[in-house]
Amino acid sequence: MIITVLHGYIRQRPVVERKMGEEICEVCGYRSQLGAVGKHPIIPSEIMEQAGVSKSQISRICANCRIELERWYAVEVNRMVYDEMDQRFRDRTPVEMVKEYQSAFNGFKGYKKKTIKVL
Ligand SMILES: [Zn+2]
Repeated sequence: MIITVLHGYIRQRPVVERKMGEEICEVCGYRSQLGAVGKHPIIPSEIMEQAGVSKSQISRICANCRIELERWYAVEVNRMVYDEMDQRFRDRTPVEMVKEYQSAFNGFKGYKKKTIKVL
């Protein structure tokens, strides 16, 4: 048991030991020694190139979460935004798209945490 003091609260959490070669999905906690959990950039490389950002945030996620994340992005990532100044919709800039993907990824992680039962 590891005990940490964070903001004045004492938190206890079990020690999570990883077996040799085991990877843990950072979204759902799934463990695999057989390659089902891998590194995945949270922002598509073409968006990163367009935004001129070279370092993408990499997540370790399982195959199921990867599929769900792609579907989540298809619904949650909006390529258009309403421009108050011009009073019409316009394409998001590449930098805005990077933020949009980051926000969608955080929303996905939050959604998954709510739906996973903690024993
Ligand atoms: Zn997962």
